[in-house]
Amino acid sequence: MQADILAWLVPAAFATFSGAFLVLRLHGIGSYWWVASFGSAGLAFAATILPPPPPPFPAVKAVIEDILFLLALIFFAYGTTARFRRRPGRRVLGAILFVSTAGATVSALHGSVGREIVFVQTGCALILLEAARAMSGAQRHAGDKLLFALLLALVIGLSLQNILLAGSVSEPLTFENWRGSPWSHVFHMVSSVIGILFAVTILVSLGLDMIEKLRRFSEIDVLSGVLNRRGFEDAARSFEERATGSSAVMIVDVDRFKTINDDFGHAAGDLAIAGIGHLLETAVGRRGIVGRLGGEEFAVLLEDGDAREAHRFAEDLRRALGEIAWGPPLAGRRITASIGVSALRAGEPLADAMQRADANLYRAKRDGRDRVISGDRDESRAA
Ligand code: GH3
Ligand code: MG
Ligand code: MG
Repeated sequence: MQADILAWLVPAAFATFSGAFLVLRLHGIGSYWWVASFGSAGLAFAATILPPPPPPFPAVKAVIEDILFLLALIFFAYGTTARFRRRPGRRVLGAILFVSTAGATVSALHGSVGREIVFVQTGCALILLEAARAMSGAQRHAGDKLLFALLLALVIGLSLQNILLAGSVSEPLTFENWRGSPWSHVFHMVSSVIGILFAVTILVSLGLDMIEKLRRFSEIDVLSGVLNRRGFEDAARSFEERATGSSAVMIVDVDRFKTINDDFGHAAGDLAIAGIGHLLETAVGRRGIVGRLGGEEFAVLLEDGDAREAHRFAEDLRRALGEIAWGPPLAGRRITASIGVSALRAGEPLADAMQRADANLYRAKRDGRDRVISGDRDESRAA
């Protein structure tokens, strides 16, 4: 009796995981494949606990269990690969399902439980191998790597079990002696422990995904779509660590922005900030990093290019900005910006170059705005 209750813990655990994945999916996390996979495995485990029906139905029941296990792994293969926007081969999985089910059915009808299990376990191992093939090389973080390692471990485990089962010299397994056989216990133990390990690993992976997503969101400026100050500083820091060639920073400050707010309203000012952020992002692209430092002030880290190249780039930016044909409510308004540029010296902290760029920006403002000033003078004179 106690053993029966314990046995039901396994399908209950799988049903719980399936429910947990459903809740997560309804919150936009994970996928329905996990729900289906753990649900199907739960049903399969539940079926194995039910008492065997009278002959000839034990074979039918066994085949249904086999199909549920195979389906659970097929859904699992889809879930695992979908994380990486990949897909396992549909025909490959279909063929494995067909051959494995056919072999298991014929074996079951002949009362050979041993051979039936070998067919199913081989099918399971091949499905997992196909999942591993489809996701190889795409793992992002520790959770993914653990998942991949678990997949391979399970393939090896299933193969070993097959070899042991095929090589076992004890009396052949039948529907009558299967339940009491050590094989049945090993089979149950191993598959439930591995299933639970998988579920926990997937949950950890989904958790890490969420953290990564939130971190990225927290570094984006919602108004302009470019990095916010923290995001810019983070990205610049990781650039500093891998920097080798020449690079430069620039600070872009919109001219007389206060008058835009005054003339057209704050909402129009916001539109201008969004438009300028978009222009900077598009112009810089993969060549560097763009961030909004605050208000109407942006920073650009140009990763490839010496001081002269950076000055030319800033000039192009300044011209492009002044030529934006704004739609209503800013229609007809010419918006300009001043840009201070400074080369980033090898090994110096970004903050030092930013300070020189800021001093150059100050000069550009003082000299009449709508201009680019570069150069490496460490000065910030008062007017
Ligand atoms: P200058 O040419 O000297 O740079 O003049 P300016 O008016 O651009 O400079 P100032 O720094 O005096 O004013 C910046 C203004 O930007 C003040 C503030 O009201 C406005 N501002 C800051 N953040 C936002 C924002 O998110 N949206 C809008 N619409 N306005 C903002
Ligand atoms: Mg300004
Ligand atoms: Mg400003």
